[in-house]
Amino acid sequence: MNPGESDSRKLLGRLKATLAKDSAGQERLDRITTIIADSMGLEVCSIYLFRDAETLELSATEGLNPEAVHKTRMRVGEGLVGRIARTKRPINTADAPAEKGFRYMAETGEEVFSSFLGVPIQRLGEALGVLVVQSKEARAFSEDEIYGMEVVAMVIAEMTELGAFVGEGAALAALHQRPATFKGGIGQEGSAMGHVWLHEPRVVVTNPIADDPAEELKKLEAAIESLRVSVDELLATADGADKEQMQVLEAYRMFANSRGWRRRMEEDISRGLSAAAAVEKEQTAARARMSQVPDPYLRERLHDLNDLSNRLLRILTGQGKETGAEMPEDPILVAANIGPGELLEYGRKLRGVVLEEGSVASHAAIVARAWAIPLIVHAGPITTEALNGDLILVDGEHGVVHLRPEDAVVDSFRDKMAMEAAQQERYVSLRDKPAESDDGVRVRLTMNAGLMADLPSLESSGAEGVGLFRTELQFLTQSRVPRRGELAQLYSRVLDRAGDKQVVFRTLDIGSDKVLPYMKPQDEPNPALGWRAIRVGLDKPGVMRMQLQALIRAAAGRQLTVMFPFIAQLQEFQDARELLIGEIERERRVGHILPTEIKIGAMLETPSLAFSPAQFYKDADFISIGGNDLKQFFFAADRENERVRRRYDTLNVSFLNLIEMITRRCAEAGTPLSFCGEDAGRPIEAVTFAALGLRTLSMRPASIGPVKHLIRRTNLAELRKVIDTARGSGAQSVRPAVIEYLYKPHPPVA
Ligand code: PEP
Ligand code: MG
Repeated sequence: MNPGESDSRKLLGRLKATLAKDSAGQERLDRITTIIADSMGLEVCSIYLFRDAETLELSATEGLNPEAVHKTRMRVGEGLVGRIARTKRPINTADAPAEKGFRYMAETGEEVFSSFLGVPIQRLGEALGVLVVQSKEARAFSEDEIYGMEVVAMVIAEMTELGAFVGEGAALAALHQRPATFKGGIGQEGSAMGHVWLHEPRVVVTNPIADDPAEELKKLEAAIESLRVSVDELLATADGADKEQMQVLEAYRMFANSRGWRRRMEEDISRGLSAAAAVEKEQTAARARMSQVPDPYLRERLHDLNDLSNRLLRILTGQGKETGAEMPEDPILVAANIGPGELLEYGRKLRGVVLEEGSVASHAAIVARAWAIPLIVHAGPITTEALNGDLILVDGEHGVVHLRPEDAVVDSFRDKMAMEAAQQERYVSLRDKPAESDDGVRVRLTMNAGLMADLPSLESSGAEGVGLFRTELQFLTQSRVPRRGELAQLYSRVLDRAGDKQVVFRTLDIGSDKVLPYMKPQDEPNPALGWRAIRVGLDKPGVMRMQLQALIRAAAGRQLTVMFPFIAQLQEFQDARELLIGEIERERRVGHILPTEIKIGAMLETPSLAFSPAQFYKDADFISIGGNDLKQFFFAADRENERVRRRYDTLNVSFLNLIEMITRRCAEAGTPLSFCGEDAGRPIEAVTFAALGLRTLSMRPASIGPVKHLIRRTNLAELRKVIDTARGSGAQSVRPAVIEYLYKPHPPVA
């Protein structure tokens, strides 16, 4: 054992004895600073903790002026202490006043101290404060001393987490009691207030200091062994063709066998940390680096290391998913990420979902949209901050999450929700009224669905049918290809529930972001432009034929409406239609009852199809514009990429010119046209489309009220003139002119 290790162990032993005493938070902090200064033979030891998200406060000191405690404050980034909190890196200097950014705090009396060593107090990438030692003698601290300080800082972080310093003023408020706000991406609009339910509860390390290091080393060894076995098992059962999964598992194995990783944890234990605290210290370091490395490959590996540490921690502490905690009445799910299957298991009780990762067009987003609950993605390190049962507000309009909000925020959020509810009430009164514009144009409003559970919305929203039934959800949420009988039964129930309202079934739209768990993933450089949707269906028709058979059987004796996704050229539509007609023939031959009427349509989601030969417009029984995809291809702007997603306005003149051309070509061919992308559910976009001639709009059920409300008070012919004038003026987008016309008092348009 090197002297550093034995010193560190002694110091931790003294800290443990202090922490075990039943004393107030401030007293504990004071004792800690005294013990550290004494053990290290230094004049000063201070602990700075966060007072709020931006400010650190001197919370305890040995050696500086005690009068400065709870008075001296600095902002994150300010002075050496502020810089440590921001960068989460130690500062070690023999001459602190000469250090860049040094800020002299007169009230502390620190001018006489020359050398300075500060390390972040952090846990899992979250900065909690800063631990500092100082001395008059100008000397730089050794690597060993820095290491020792980091170990002590880890213990302080764990104790802060456990609430050891609660109750002594704002700066000592237990962590996870402070309000926090996260800004993320909007996966699904809406507002929700509720209490946190963590998909994966955090592991709590209750004993950061080892009683018996030899024992802790054994525990670590056993845990690593069991981790290694489980990774090997995963590797043995993994699908070798799934390159991405194999890569992740290989990386796991590499880390699980990594000597460096293991040696660092063993050393932490030798210095007095418990095995669990040592794992968490490594995880904290990985998380801190994760937020700093720009190289995506390296970041991925750090991500793997973080995941692996999590597994190891669960093995060591025995803390799994089951914590015995009870789900709140109004749960808002908080998770790093979640698949659609897991999300569906929670059922409709969830009020909202907040994810650290995820994407707007992910499967989880599709489910949240179907449930009409707000979803925020990329919401910062929320799983580190949130605790089960915390109050949480989800503002899906602005992509903001308020965790443990102040009363004033709660009040104004309540007002906002009340206003929205009142508005919804007004929409309910419109339910049975037609979406007829002020100048007498009738627009058909239908809803988008994807689950059986969506069907009740047909009545409650006043939708006139299902304009888009996304059939892939059934495929995404199972671990195997659903059987024909199961599908036929489901589609039949959907049709039963819809009664005399039409349901447009879209055939399987997979590929790109929608990857079936049981399908061999394609290693494609650009999946959005890759082998997806109808391309898969035509190249490997087995599953699509099975699905078509299920649809035909479900619609026996009634109307069947089918549309094919992602058609890029006439031939694809003709081939898909042939396939359906072939299946009908087959069903006829085997004597099954056939649908009474069959309508076969196409989704227009690629610009190429808009410019296709007139034959396409004649052949299709109906066409539905898939604006989500059409827009991304038209502007070459990835719908899942937050950076570019909103860069191009849907009301951009070029896009509207395209929509208008499609409308005209459909009118010429006498082919019904609808719009079923997300934009159809946005009132301003919806009335603009209606003014351009669209007569059917399909949207999530919650949008039907707002869209109908606006259509009913709009004169579409006048709006059309406003749009044409704006288009003629050289404007890039007609939005300003449309908003001006819709919402500002205006003289009648000539
Ligand atoms: C679309 O692209 O607009 C559409 C409705 O299909 P999805 O969002 O399922 O790709
Ligand atoms: Mg699409």
